[in-house]
Amino acid sequence: MKTTRFTTVLWDVDGTLLDFLYSQRCAITRAFHSVGREITQEQIERYSQINESFWKRHERGEVEREELLTGRFLQLFDEYGMEGIDLPAFLQEFQDALGSVFLHRDDSLAVCRFLAGYVRQYVVTNGVTATQTKKLKLSGLWDLMDGVFISEEIGKPKPSSFFFESCLSRVEEKDRRKILIVGDSLSSDIKGGKEAGIATCWYRPDGSVNPTGLKPDYEISDLHMIYDILGVFDRWQSPQGRS
Ligand SMILES: [Mg+2]
Repeated sequence: MKTTRFTTVLWDVDGTLLDFLYSQRCAITRAFHSVGREITQEQIERYSQINESFWKRHERGEVEREELLTGRFLQLFDEYGMEGIDLPAFLQEFQDALGSVFLHRDDSLAVCRFLAGYVRQYVVTNGVTATQTKKLKLSGLWDLMDGVFISEEIGKPKPSSFFFESCLSRVEEKDRRKILIVGDSLSSDIKGGKEAGIATCWYRPDGSVNPTGLKPDYEISDLHMIYDILGVFDRWQSPQGRS
C-alpha cells in the first residue's frame, strides 16, 4: 500500500457517498403507491424534516430505533389526517425501496475505487442493516470497502462512543491520528469522530454554515477534494518523491 498522510478513511454513506434525499423521495413515493395513495412534494419535504428530527433524537439517545422507524410515519399520517394505511405493508415497501434506489454523489464510486490502492476504507453508517447492505452492494461501494459498520448491527448509532469504539476496535489501523472520518453530519460524524480522537472531514456540498461550536479538521465541498487531504498526489507532484 502506498504511503499517505492517513492510512484509513471512515465514510459516512447517506448524504456523503450516496444521495440520501433522492433515495428517500423515491422510496416514500413508492411506499405510498403500494398502499394505493399519493404523496405531494410538500408532504415529502415535511416527512424529511420529521425524519431528520427523529434521527437527531436517536443520536442523542432520546428515541429508540424501533420508535424512530414507525414514529416518523405515524407523525406524518397524523399531521395530514391520513387514515387507514396498512402500516406494516407500508414500512416494508419503504425500507425495500430505500435500499434499492440510489444515486452516487460526486462520482463517489470512482473516488473510492481510486483510493482503494492508497488507503483502507470502511463504511460507518446509521441505518437499518438490510437497507444499507442492499444499497451498498447495488451501488458497487460494498466491494471497495475493507469493512462495513452499521448502527443497527452495532447496537448504538453515531456519535455514541460505543459505536466508534466498536468500529475502531475492528479496523486494522490502531494509530487514531492516521484515521479520517468523512461525513455530512456535524452532530454524528464530526462530533463522534472528534470524541473518538480521530481526524474529521466535514462534507458540505451545499455550502451550509456550521451552527455548532464543533471545528472539523477539514472541510470539503466535493468528494474529489479528499485526494489533497490524503496527500495521494504528493509523491507525483514532488520531483524528489518521483519514483
Ligand atoms: Mg450522512
